[in-house]
Formats: sequence, C-alpha cells, structure tokens
Amino acid sequence: MSVSLPEKWDKEADVVVVGFGGAGAAAAITAHDLGAKVLMLEKAPAGEEGGNTRIAGQGYLQIYDVDKAIAYLNALCGRYPVPQEMVRAWAEEVRGNNDWVASIGGDPQEHQHQPEGIEFPELPGADCTHKFHHGDVLGYSNTWKFFEAAVKRRPIEILYESPGRELIQDGITKEILGVRAEQRGKPLHVKARKAVVLTCGGFENNQEMIRNYLPGLPYCYTSGTPHNDGDGIKMAQRVGADLWHMNNFAGPSMALKVPEYKSTFSMTPLHYTHEMPGGMIVVGPDANRFVNEKLKPKHGKIRRNGQWCQMPAPCPMFMVFDHALFTCGPLYDMKPVSGWGRIMERYEWSRDNSAELRRGWIKRAETVAGLAASLGLNPGALEESVRRWNRVCESGEDAEFGRSKMLIPIGRPPFYAIELSPSMLNTQGGPRRNEHGQIVRPDNTPILRLYSAGELGSIYSHLYQGTGNIGECLAFGRISARNAVAESPWDSRHAPAADEATP
Ligand SMILES: Cc1cc2nc3c(=O)[nH]c(=O)nc-3n(C[C@H](O)[C@H](O)[C@H](O)COP(=O)(O)OP(=O)(O)OC[C@H]3O[C@@H](n4cnc5c(N)ncnc54)[C@H](O)[C@@H]3O)c2cc1C
Repeated sequence: MSVSLPEKWDKEADVVVVGFGGAGAAAAITAHDLGAKVLMLEKAPAGEEGGNTRIAGQGYLQIYDVDKAIAYLNALCGRYPVPQEMVRAWAEEVRGNNDWVASIGGDPQEHQHQPEGIEFPELPGADCTHKFHHGDVLGYSNTWKFFEAAVKRRPIEILYESPGRELIQDGITKEILGVRAEQRGKPLHVKARKAVVLTCGGFENNQEMIRNYLPGLPYCYTSGTPHNDGDGIKMAQRVGADLWHMNNFAGPSMALKVPEYKSTFSMTPLHYTHEMPGGMIVVGPDANRFVNEKLKPKHGKIRRNGQWCQMPAPCPMFMVFDHALFTCGPLYDMKPVSGWGRIMERYEWSRDNSAELRRGWIKRAETVAGLAASLGLNPGALEESVRRWNRVCESGEDAEFGRSKMLIPIGRPPFYAIELSPSMLNTQGGPRRNEHGQIVRPDNTPILRLYSAGELGSIYSHLYQGTGNIGECLAFGRISARNAVAESPWDSRHAPAADEATP
C-alpha cells in the first residue's frame, strides 16, 4: 500500500502528537516546553478526549530504587522477557515521574494503604512500587484534569474529531513526514517537521483485533473509552512496524454489557470485598460454575497449577441469583470514581433494580428450570449447579473453587440472572518501541521520525502492576518527546521523494 504525498500540507508543526490521553499529554507538554511547535490530533469530540487516562483510577507509578524496579519488571514479565535496555530506560524515567509532575505545577500525593497496592508482593523488587496521584482526592478524573489543564495552558493546537488515519512516509528514506488525518469526512494533511508521536491507545473496541489477538475471547468489552479502536497499531503496521505484547491485556473480568451503553457495568455482588445478603453464582454456557466468583484477579490473571494465567471466560456467562439478593440494593455502584460508564455515560441504575428488570437486562423466573430455559441453558444442569452450590454453603467449604465469601445458598424464588461478558480495562499490545521511544521494524531498526508512548505497545508483556500504565505513559511520553524534538527538521535538509511514499 502506498500513501501519496499531499500537494499541499493543511497544517504544520514540529511534533505531531496523535491521541490526547495521558501519554499524549506528557509528550505534548514535554515537546512544547523544549521549544517545539506541537499539534495534537484527537479522534474524540471535545469533552470526550482523554481516553482511558480520563476515567482511570488516576494512579501513576513512581519508583525510587531503579535496581529494585528492574528486578520487579523482569519478574512481572517472567517468561515473556523484554529487552534489558528497555527495562532500564523505563525504570530510570519512571523514577522521574513525581519530579516532572511537580515541575509542571502538579501536587503528587501517595495513595493511602500503600502496601495493599503492591500487586505481586512475593516477586523480587516489588516494594519499589509507589502509587501516586495528583491532588488531595484519588479518582474522579483528578489527575487527568491536571494534565488536560497543563496542555491547554500552553499554545498547543488540538484538533478534535480529527482521527489520524495514515502516516505519510518518504518513499526513499522511509522517514515519517506527517499524518493524513480526517476531519468531517475530508482528508487533512498534517506535516510533522521533526517527528510524529503516536499515543492513540489500544484496541479495546476493535472486536476483530480482539478475536485475532486476545487469547480465547470471541468478544470482550471495555470499561474505558469507546474511542480506542487500534488505529495506531494499523497505522504503524502500514509503515513496517513490528508488534509486541498483542496477547496481553488488563482483563478479563465479568461485567454486564448492553447495546444501549458503550462501556461495561461491573456488578457489585462480584466485587471481592462487597458482601451482600443473598445467594449468587456465575455459570458458563454449560450451566456449571467455573471460578471463585468473589476472587480478585490481578488485572485478569489468576493463579492456577502454580502459575499465573488468564481468568477463564466461557462466553456467555450468567450471574444467577435469588430474590434476597435482588431486593438488597442496586446491583451496580454508580459512584463516579473511575470508568467511562460511571464518569461519562452516567446511567442511573434504579435503587431496587426494577428498571433494569423492565429493560430486560435482568431476567426473572419462578423456578431455576424456567430461568435456565429463558437463558438458553440446560434446565437440569442449572438446577444441579444450584443444588451443588447450596450444599457448598451448608458445608462451608467450596472445595472446587475455594470461594470463602458470600457463602449464601440460592434460596427463595423468584430467581434472576444477568448475562455477563468478558470486560477489560485496556490492551497492552501494539507497535514495538525501543528505549528511545522509536517504533521499530521486525529487524529492530527504527522507523525514522516515528515515536510512541502509552498503552499503544506498552512494556507490559505478562503480569501488570496497577498504576504501571499511566506511569509508563508519563515516562515514555517524555522520552519520545525529547528525542522527537532533538530531530532536525526534514524540510530543511532534503526534499522528499515527491511521487509516493511506501511502507
Ligand atoms: C477503568 C479504568 C481504570 C484504570 N485505572 C488505572 C490507574 O489507576 N492507573 C494506571 O496506570 N492505569 C489505569 N488504567 C489503564 C490506563 O488508564 C491506560 O492504560 C492509560 O491511561 C492509557 O493512556 P494512553 O495515553 O496510552 O491512552 P488513552 O488515555 O486511552 O488515550 C488515547 C487517546 O487517543 C485517542 N485516539 C484513538 N484513536 C485515535 C486516532 N486514530 N487519532 C487520534 N486520536 C485517537 C483517543 O480518543 C484517546 O483520547 C485504567 C483503565 C481503565 C479503563
């Protein structure tokens, strides 16, 4: 495929940043403060920019001890190792996160209950982890609001509803010269005199890529932004990028997804700390339980047979519960701490779950067999699963899955069910980058003038430490921006091959 050079450039900047989330903000601020003219392309409409960073838990990783951080990241990667020069670059730069946030006017505050936030305390170097956020209150988009304001205080042009579509590449040198974006259905050619930094997130909303790359999932939905469709991955592929970590993602968990809303609803009874006075199990399409429903997976990973692996998600899954649970309060917690649904879509779940019953999100039947029939499950198999669960509660021991919370039998009718889908926070894979933030080809040579940061090809290859994503956004946003600004402008050096550009 070839991308023709435009006859004229519609816009021009030294550094073009594609995607205005956390990584884009860090790259844009850094490049601007080093004296570059910066232009940002953002796919979402104004007010919906910010990507997953906007609705995240708002924590970012800070480390102080580089050697411990290197040991921890290597242990997290385990049998999916990452080049040591990358690991070191990551550690050394993450160490500077708080200083950088403070240098642009932020107020780094450490999360409370710090040791509980260390996801894999048994791994070497784990105590390097320090989780920070901006300001007094954790959550509620607060760290994002600070980054957004820091970008908007600067003379950085932001073009909304202007998705990057293709990279414009010199046909001979293979350097990246700019971006073909789209605005109101028309092409917009943006010249990048020094470099392009791709920060346009993962492929959480691209079901075809999910089927191709995420292991064992016929579909999966996100609790994050609806605007990340894997565009940056495709753009980078077309100019020859290698990919990495495509099978790793922060998930799955189990959540309700309905067509009327873009992101998933997490169900309160499944929350690991939340005890509710009613009977509940989750079954797969064979009507059998398959997991400890109250387990807290580590960003989708559970320990089985002595190793960490992805939580099973036999689709479709059903949360089956009794009248006691139905009547003990809303099954969805609307507090707008994090998540696209809670912060942006703001569906008002009814206090007695009746509206969701009327909408058909919750199914009801007088008998377990009747409920099974309405779900398309084998009635006898679901009855047997309920009987087995009730025996577990009587004995007080869940020998099969080790659940120890809400050991409450599924009691009096009517009975209810909610279909659950696999849900994720974000994908981790994308174009492979090197320690300079450059996107590289399969032979490890950099694609000149093309950089990246954030979850678009993150460093996390297997296990993931919470706050690591935004921590990496800030670190590689800065690394990529510094190196992008250090490039000399291509238009002062040579005239590009004017006939065509090829990957
Ligand atoms: C509910 C939730 C909680 C989380 N909590 C945390 C946490 O506390 N700490 C942590 O470290 N991580 C957390 N994560 C993960 C973290 O939020 C993300 O991995 C991180 O914010 C990604 O930042 P990013 O800048 O790479 O991408 P994003 O923040 O997703 O930004 C990508 C931007 O690119 C735009 N875009 C997409 N395609 C295009 C295109 N073609 N052209 C132009 N623009 C485009 C998008 O609209 C978006 O604005 C959480 C995720 C979720 C969903």
